[in-house]
Amino acid sequence: MSPAATNIFTLTHNSELPDLLEANNTWSEKMTEAHPTLFKDFNAHGQAPHTLFIGCSDSRYNEQCLGVIPGEIFTWKTIANVISDKDLTCRATLEFAINVLKVNKVVVCGHTDCGGINTCLALKREALNDGECSHLYQYLQDVDDLYHEHKEEVKAATNDVAQQSRMLSRLNVAKQYQRLLEIDTVQKALARGDISVYGLLYDVATGRVEQVSNV
Ligand SMILES: [Zn+2]
Repeated sequence: MSPAATNIFTLTHNSELPDLLEANNTWSEKMTEAHPTLFKDFNAHGQAPHTLFIGCSDSRYNEQCLGVIPGEIFTWKTIANVISDKDLTCRATLEFAINVLKVNKVVVCGHTDCGGINTCLALKREALNDGECSHLYQYLQDVDDLYHEHKEEVKAATNDVAQQSRMLSRLNVAKQYQRLLEIDTVQKALARGDISVYGLLYDVATGRVEQVSNV
């Protein structure tokens, strides 16, 4: 939040359950007003999403950056949108979305100003290994490896930390995109011509998405 900004958010740290329930009520009414048939004629009868969206857990974006409404996109969010064939959630999500729900697009969408990436860029990952955040420390190994792999290239390109972070976010999307292509569920669906796979980057400062890679 910029120092001059006044709060525009629905809920705050002070919100309690009645506030959450009231906010939900307002949201469902507004959604019904905007799309009178959405809940009763579509979402009440199951889902047929066209896209699997894999993004970072960051609060500033999600699949709605593509302008969709509930029922269109199956989503998995995880810190720094890290894909791993050893991650059961990742494998199960891909299998369910591709083989059961039959999505025909898989998107891995990273974002600018990513906390996971910034932590590694600022060499602050080591400080997480203090017991309170030891799993986060382990989890960020993959991002840390990416940083060390591209450190010279990123530092040579710019002195601006925000730009370095943006470069690493793009490189991370490219890396996680390649990982996706190596997972057998994705490979088989690509071979059958069932899916397209896209790597995207969301800019938290503008709300715009740009393409990083695709097949
Ligand atoms: Zn992030």
